[in-house]
Amino acid sequence: MRVKITMVCNECKQRNYDSMKNKKNDPDRLEMNKYCKFCRKHTLHKESK
Ligand SMILES: [Zn+2]
Repeated sequence: MRVKITMVCNECKQRNYDSMKNKKNDPDRLEMNKYCKFCRKHTLHKESK
């Protein structure tokens, strides 16, 4: 059930993080605050696609 996901900055749309998630635990699109080096601050990152 583990799938690869890509976290995309919600402000600049850069793909900053590759990650894994468990579809059983996280059936929905993940959102988290992470540091974006392009924005140079913490921004909301969303799972791509
Ligand atoms: Zn950004």
